[in-house]
Order: sequence, then C-alpha cells, then structure tokens
Amino acid sequence: MDVIIGLEVHAQMNKLKSKLFCSCPTSYHKSPPNTHVCPVCLGMPGAMPVVNREAIKAGIKVALAMNAKILPMIVFDRKNYFYPDLPKNFQISQYDHPLAVGGYVTIESDGKEKKITLKRIHIEEDPGKLSYKGSITTASYSLIDYNRSGMPLLEIVTEPVISSPKEARIFLNKLRMVLEYLDVFDGELEGAMRVDANISIAGGARVEIKNISSFKGVEKALNYEILRQKNLIKRGKAVVRETRHFDESQEITVSLRSKEEEQDYRYFPEPDLPVIYTVELVKEVEGTLPEMPEEKRERLKREYGISDNYAKVLILDLKMTEFFEKVAKIVDPKLAVTWVVDVLRGELNYRDWTFYDCFKVLSPEEFANLLKLFIEERITEKGVVEVIRTKLDKGGGIEEIIAEKGLFAIPKSEIEKFCKEAIEENPKAVQDYYSGKKQALNFLVGQVMKKTRGRADPEETAKIIARILG
Ligand code: ZN
Ligand code: MN
Repeated sequence: MDVIIGLEVHAQMNKLKSKLFCSCPTSYHKSPPNTHVCPVCLGMPGAMPVVNREAIKAGIKVALAMNAKILPMIVFDRKNYFYPDLPKNFQISQYDHPLAVGGYVTIESDGKEKKITLKRIHIEEDPGKLSYKGSITTASYSLIDYNRSGMPLLEIVTEPVISSPKEARIFLNKLRMVLEYLDVFDGELEGAMRVDANISIAGGARVEIKNISSFKGVEKALNYEILRQKNLIKRGKAVVRETRHFDESQEITVSLRSKEEEQDYRYFPEPDLPVIYTVELVKEVEGTLPEMPEEKRERLKREYGISDNYAKVLILDLKMTEFFEKVAKIVDPKLAVTWVVDVLRGELNYRDWTFYDCFKVLSPEEFANLLKLFIEERITEKGVVEVIRTKLDKGGGIEEIIAEKGLFAIPKSEIEKFCKEAIEENPKAVQDYYSGKKQALNFLVGQVMKKTRGRADPEETAKIIARILG
C-alpha cells in the first residue's frame, strides 16, 4: 500500500536577536517563565506590532537557499482562534501572500537523490507555552509561559511527496542542517522545531498529526499511524479525516477533533502592519548566503585533501566540521580526519553526545595537542584512545591524564634497557632465535611489552632486540 506524507515544519528562528513584532530578546530558553515579555507579545489591547526586519531577511535567506520563489509583496494576516497560549485570540501569520512558494530540498534516500518539493514558506509568530503540573489529563490547572510568545517562526510546508516515515526523518535532518548552515536556527534548543504531519494510505482520508516536538517523534508517530490505518482498512473500516495528537510517552496517536477547515480561521489582513515589498530586501540578502553543504563538501576535499567519504560525513554536522577544521590547522589534516571522524565521533556517539557537548569538555586545540604527542611518538595509539575516554568522562588536562595513567610512551633511548633484561631472562628464546626460529623475536618483543605495559613502540623494540643479538 502506498503511503503519502506531507509535512508542515515550524522552525523557530531562534538565532535572531529579537522577537518578530517587539524588541523582547529571543534568548529566553534558560530564563524563568514570563520574564521575556512586553505589552506586544502579551497581546495587551492597543499594543502595536512592528515587523522585525532581520526576521524577514532571515526568511528570505532560507527561501533562497531552498530555491523557492520569493513573492514581491508579502502580507501578514490574522489567523483567528481561541486558545490560552494566544492572548490576542489570533496569530499573526501569512495566508494569501506568503514569503515564498515552491522550492525544494534535496535528500539522499536509499542511495538515490530525491527532491522534496515545497508548497510554501511563510513567517508567523509563535504562541506561548502551556505547562501542566504532572500529567495533562490529571492536572487541575495549567500554567502559561509567554516567553515563547511572538518568537519568529518559519513554517515550511512540503508537497505530499514523502513516501515513508524514514524518508520524513531524512528530510527533517537535512532541513535542520540547511537551517543551521544559514545560521538562523539552533536545533539544540527546546521547542526549536515542531512538526505537523499529514498522512494517507492509498486514496484513504488524510489524517493530520499535530505538534510532534522531536525528530525521533515524527518517525515513530508516522509508523504508528500507518499501522493504525492499515488495521482499519483490513477490517473494512473507513479512515476518517481528523486531527490526532502524538502522545510521546506512550508512542501512540490519539484523536483530537475532526479537522477544522481553513475558513474556520477567518483569515484577514493584519490592519496594524504594512505590506512588505521584498525586491530590495532580496538584493540585500543575496550576496550574504553562506557556504552550503555541497559547496562545503567540495572545499573540504580540495583544501585538506581528504576523501569524499570523510567530507560527506563531516558536512552532516557543522560542529564536527568546525572541530575538524580547527584540528586540521594544527596537525596533518589526513591524520586529523580519521581521529575526529572515526575515533572521537565514535566515542561521542557511544555516550549519546554531540560535538556541541564535546566543545565544552574537549577543545579542538587540546585534541590537536594530544595528536601531536602521538605524532612525536610520546604516546601510543592505545594511549590516545584512553586519554580521549578519560577526558570525556572525567575531564582534566591532557598531560595530567597521561602522567597520572602512566601513558607516556617509553623514549626510544630507554627501550634498550628493557630489551637487554628480556634477553637475559629468556636464554631459551635467544637460542631459538639463533637457530632461525622467527617467532622467538616476537616472543622477546612481547616480553618487553609486558615490562612496559604496552608503552614501547613494538617495531622499534624488534629492531633493537635484533641489533643486540647481532
Ligand atoms: Zn515582547
Ligand atoms: Mn503555523
């Protein structure tokens, strides 16, 4: 059975300095409730909105990067509905004249390139946030925090062209990557991206799942919903057109209401805001587009001489690329890339950490210094891994960890002493060596490794022993 999915993504432009229609700061995420508010974003009668020009420019930047057509004139509309998180009883959004129409995002799905085409991109304000003491179903009252009210949101609506929950996840990851590249969005912050998903199976009714608030949630909600609809179809029952809510704790969707129609919102142009002409703004923004993923991939290969495979992995994560580039300025890029992508990334994944977390504990400079010690043969490969692990788990200075754990490699000049000891203590092996048994040399090297707890370079040790035995 064919599955058709369309997504409406709300992305907070949380990297802008102020909210969409007032000068309240957007950096509320760690503040107490209702501390980043003013008469405008609290919806006080008579308070007048003023458009944040930077938000329009940021929206244009996103639309350009997604190859969308920016409309020459954009108009804000009132979308009327009542809810406690919306103190004006309407949301300022865009309807007939959105920021942009069309465009696409390219994804790689099952090894093939696919264009996820877009219907539209518009700008709107975020409502406040409701919270409940305990569970939503048992709490006797709800609390409201208006810090989020008036945050600049981008609503990005895809055509119904996504054909599986997995593809939806790949698309959202790519979207997040593009928004982060454009420096308008930080996906790590609470509430940064919320998704509504429309899904139907082979001609059945369209069901909308509202307000899924995590990346993993989208794939889970869609998987659940496909199963639910298929079961209905199997039993000969109709899938009804409705809006459902995804319960993250139970990982199921539950019916909310029969879907409201567009006309229920009584959209009309916002009388307190002027229309915006975009031609000049587009010109201003066009020259400021940063390096996008595919350009970055080419540059990394060219500039550092690394393979396409490594470049492909790096561009998925801006923070990882930043980390790598800083390390590659200090030590050989080809060595740096294997240690960053293969080893460090693996250790972070194992701990469920991102490179954001890594920066706080292990800086690229410290990491480069550690690699320098490895290049100078003052620490073995095994030693480097042990230092990384200790550093991530317990912190501390690189040199201190090495000293404390006794990880400094034995200097070449001192290996000889251990070799002589091993030779004296193992006359049988020496005899075997002279009678032409090659394993005897390996045995002696092993003895030195034991004595030095692996801190001597094995190749060097073999050379020294062979020299002594003549
Ligand atoms: Zn405000
Ligand atoms: Mn919306």
